Amino acid sequence: MLVLQNLTKQYGAKDVALKNVSLTIGQGEIVGLIGPSGAGKSTLIRCINRLVEPSGGKILLDDVDLASLSAKELRRARRRIGMIFQEYALVERLTVMENVLSGRLGYVPFWRSYLRKFPANDVRSAYALLDRVGLLAHADKRADALSGGQRQRVGIARALAQEPDLLLVDEPTASLDPKTSRQIMRLITEVCVERALPAIVNIHDVPLAKQFMQRIVGLRAGGVVFDGKPEALDNEV
Ligand code: ADP
Ligand code: ADP
Repeated sequence: MLVLQNLTKQYGAKDVALKNVSLTIGQGEIVGLIGPSGAGKSTLIRCINRLVEPSGGKILLDDVDLASLSAKELRRARRRIGMIFQEYALVERLTVMENVLSGRLGYVPFWRSYLRKFPANDVRSAYALLDRVGLLAHADKRADALSGGQRQRVGIARALAQEPDLLLVDEPTASLDPKTSRQIMRLITEVCVERALPAIVNIHDVPLAKQFMQRIVGLRAGGVVFDGKPEALDNEV
């Protein structure tokens, strides 16, 4: 479970990007973040794993306050947070399988063919994940040989290989066509439900958010202006 308490981020002297945001996200709950450009969606996502340093407030992941961890503790805590990116952030020269295993490792090593160095269990679960995302036949292809939708499937499998307690998803379909976008959103929501994995999805496409998200949080000028079921959004706007 993730609890944000009065999360605040101020970049410059008066550039307040997040103002006292408080949210509770339960086990297996998938929350879509919507709002106009500049509303604070990326800042909110990045504060949670401290790619952006919060200016104030608490970020409780199962009772550990991520906002107050030292650099060393933070490295360990980040292993519990899976990330899925708009541009996939794969290592192009590595194979699909190697990309997924790098999620297990938490970093990308400089040497090739490190499959052999992984415990058989990790390799087995990586194959199972590739099967789940529909890429088993592509395990040995280089990442740069895949289509955008396939790359995002690798991104999803890599994040899950971490066995995270929380998934942060930043505009996962912004580079994909509408049909592929729906397939990717369906996959993300399904794997979260299967694992009771809480997720926050920065999703700029409101119709897509309404189709796939159980709960929508609307941000405007750094504050929460809507928090509810997608159906309730229709009465708001
Ligand atoms: P998006 O619309 O996807 O959030 P932006 O174009 O707003 O992307 O931001 C791209 C990058 O620039 C991000 O890393 C963001 O943190 C940074 N950024 C956005 N606004 C500012 C700003 N006013 N000053 C400095 N960096 C900014
Ligand atoms: P969104 O993701 O909703 O487009 P952002 O979180 O990117 O919003 O931005 C929220 C606000 O914070 C904007 O006013 C933006 O200009 C500002 N901002 C974002 N990143 C930076 C940065 N690195 N430095 C200064 N201001 C930033």
